[in-house]
Amino acid sequence: MQAGHPPARLLASGRAFAHIARFHPELTAFRRDLHANPELGFEEVYTAGRVAEALRLCGVDSLRTGIGKTGVVAVVHGRGRSAADPGRMLGLRADMDALPLHEHNEVAWKSTRGGLMHGCGHDGHTAMLLGAARYLAETRQFDGTAVLIFQPGEEGYAGARAMIQDGLFDTWPCERVFAQHNSPETALGVIGITPGPMQAAVDRIQITVRGKGGHGARPHQAIDPVLVSAHIISAVQSIVARNVSAFDQAVVSICAMQAGHPGAMSVIPGQAVLVGTVRTYNEAMQQLVEDRLRQLCAGVAQGFGASADVEYERIYPATVNTVPEAHFAADVAASLVGEDRVLRDMTPSMGGEDFSFMLQVRPGAYIRIGQGAADGPGPHPLHNPRYDFNDDILPLGAALHAGLVEQGLPLAT
Ligand SMILES: [Zn+2]
Ligand SMILES: [Zn+2]
Repeated sequence: MQAGHPPARLLASGRAFAHIARFHPELTAFRRDLHANPELGFEEVYTAGRVAEALRLCGVDSLRTGIGKTGVVAVVHGRGRSAADPGRMLGLRADMDALPLHEHNEVAWKSTRGGLMHGCGHDGHTAMLLGAARYLAETRQFDGTAVLIFQPGEEGYAGARAMIQDGLFDTWPCERVFAQHNSPETALGVIGITPGPMQAAVDRIQITVRGKGGHGARPHQAIDPVLVSAHIISAVQSIVARNVSAFDQAVVSICAMQAGHPGAMSVIPGQAVLVGTVRTYNEAMQQLVEDRLRQLCAGVAQGFGASADVEYERIYPATVNTVPEAHFAADVAASLVGEDRVLRDMTPSMGGEDFSFMLQVRPGAYIRIGQGAADGPGPHPLHNPRYDFNDDILPLGAALHAGLVEQGLPLAT
């Protein structure tokens, strides 16, 4: 616990939270074990094994591994329900993968695998969902079936899509799906959600500018792709500034440029490559940016007698919460932490999230759970080598998952 934080036992109230708080130490130990053993997307063999082992101990009703390569799905039936008569299904998703990052924390549970690190808190997300699985299996105070989805490869591998393509929602036809992600920028125990776009679409762009190489002393004999690239870099800034309405959002960033060789002072290279990213919240905006980018690159290059090939790769779609499910999730959160600790119109992020693939095919919501300090110096952000998941929120996240099931699939009274 960091100075200034309320004790974890005071973060929320209610029966589920009190029940789960009793096994907070076990959840913490489980989370730290995953932290010490990070694995990249689709390589979560140790993690998936530990998850499956723990789920069996929890007493889940069924368990399948190898969904979307290394994904795990467990099922807990509510009171009176069975595989033959599952009732309505509600899905809860946690991501399991780590990052190619070298950890700079000096903690007892520091990564034991050099160059790999749980720098996004997916170790914590996995432990939170495990806590919910144990609680739901022990209590079963709901009418229907909870589907617990432990997905691989969120960090750029589209593990959610792999699970869907592997029949996730055919085998377990969830009516609604929910996921949580920790937020170091949000105060400890505060829960944030937005009806509508929550995370941006993530696109990768690569522009190859082809000119004609030559001598730096005789540029008139060459077509300089470095000069063309400079004009393209400037021109693409006009897309957001001059094509996107002031009431919409988009980001276009050129983040890398490769041309020539630092040792070649007087060699004009034949080509230059620019790499960057586009972030948008809806498909119309995404299409507008792609179209303008292609037109600008082609037009600018042509004006210099060069050419430009644009590769535009749509990696993750925007994460868009359906409105009723976002309101429902906020209500569940308020029942746990109180209305004053729920942000119902949280500012969306320009980061990406592959839960978006699940929200494209099922109604649901993506929820942020605050793990930061309310005051003082800011905590380390996600993907920082000093980042760590805050174990204080494990029972809260687990209780939020449980609340979504109990309030989403209520027993008849
Ligand atoms: Zn991440
Ligand atoms: Zn993440």
